[in-house]
Amino acid sequence: MATTHVNGHPLDEGFHVLHTAYPTVQRWINVASLNAKAMDNCTVTLNPKTGRKRLLGDALRSPKYLLPTLRSVGVGDGLRFLKWRLGTTAKDLERPLGQKSPSIAVGLQQRRFAPSTQRVLSTLFAGITLDPSLSERLSFADFTWGAMSHGKMVVPSGGIAAVPQQLARRLKNAHIHLNAPVTEVGATSVAVGEVQHTFDRVVLAVPQHVAAALLPSSASDHLPIERRTSTVVFEASRPPFKQPRLLLNESWGEPNNDVLHVHVPTNLHPHPEGKHWIVATLVGPAADNPDLRAVQDELKAWFGDQANGWSYVTTTTVRHALPHIHPDHHERTLPDIEIEGVVLVGDHRTHPSVQGALVSAERALEHMGIPLPGGVA
Ligand SMILES: Cc1cc2nc3c(=O)[nH]c(=O)nc-3n(C[C@H](O)[C@H](O)[C@H](O)COP(=O)(O)OP(=O)(O)OC[C@H]3O[C@@H](n4cnc5c(N)ncnc54)[C@H](O)[C@@H]3O)c2cc1C
Repeated sequence: MATTHVNGHPLDEGFHVLHTAYPTVQRWINVASLNAKAMDNCTVTLNPKTGRKRLLGDALRSPKYLLPTLRSVGVGDGLRFLKWRLGTTAKDLERPLGQKSPSIAVGLQQRRFAPSTQRVLSTLFAGITLDPSLSERLSFADFTWGAMSHGKMVVPSGGIAAVPQQLARRLKNAHIHLNAPVTEVGATSVAVGEVQHTFDRVVLAVPQHVAAALLPSSASDHLPIERRTSTVVFEASRPPFKQPRLLLNESWGEPNNDVLHVHVPTNLHPHPEGKHWIVATLVGPAADNPDLRAVQDELKAWFGDQANGWSYVTTTTVRHALPHIHPDHHERTLPDIEIEGVVLVGDHRTHPSVQGALVSAERALEHMGIPLPGGVA
């Protein structure tokens, strides 16, 4: 959850929202103090060839989205959406993760959505899992669907990094060493290059590929497959659209269609100088060194001549963005908390989300007999 700053204004590295429905977010994060604002609970898709837009929204929470959604997907898929939503429960969002599940790629076909709806859902979940092959479990998609249905998707005014920064501020009597890559771990030892440290307990809370390198037996069947994403950011005096929502590419994956979605973060948290940022997101191989000119040409097809006047701001890239959990794993968590005496924490022990990362931290606390805090600080 990283945020950079461009001329003093925060810019998230990759599109990232905080789901207020996550039980761990309710336990650990003081959302009110983040000055966060919510994205619209709908997505708009664009066919770049025809310019046609379609809206998919949560009609149970926003009845104004009912007719546009039915116009977009038809009554049959509208009912399939409703069934999907009614199958989720706010009381236990993670319930699907404990059940047998195909991959998202296979599962979306089994649910018999019309091909055009399937295409939109495939693109949406490629964006959420940062995996064009949709190898993640469908049960994870169900978990995400539940989180979207039962809460808001918010972005803090200081960017998504404000979330871990808030957690860090609550640490008392702790030393945090930044830019100190750990090179070896043991049950009571941590090496940073030549320097050895000794501790009572060691908790390893690093990304999956780093854990696999430092503690190879932690990987077992869940070998890391790198997921990556880039955003290419442009600046304009006027936004191409005014709402805080994603504009999803219906032709994503076809030739010259690398941009998966576009959003305008300054629609949510205005830029102090009244400028607008247009953020184009790419995933998978397309995220490796994105071709700036090709991206801008794509956006010209989306938005017309106005894109000619946009100036380039920056590109962000996140490597090793999310863990890979074996698709045949049908449990909420991976069984081992401790391996070779080292306590393991991170989204790769559960599922690729903030909820997954915090659940794994709670599980480690419980394992070490440390009580969970009673509520938000
Ligand atoms: C672009 C993007 C968008 C996302 N969007 C969402 C979303 O909308 N909703 C959602 O729920 N989840 C989302 N996620 C997933 C979520 O952010 C992660 O699952 C979660 O942050 C993982 O937390 P973690 O503590 O397991 O790992 P990390 O946050 O990756 O923490 C691991 C830490 O280990 C450090 N480290 C690495 N190597 C070493 C080393 N050798 N020595 C010491 N330290 C090391 C790293 O610097 C890092 O600080 C998104 C992720 C990305 C990348």
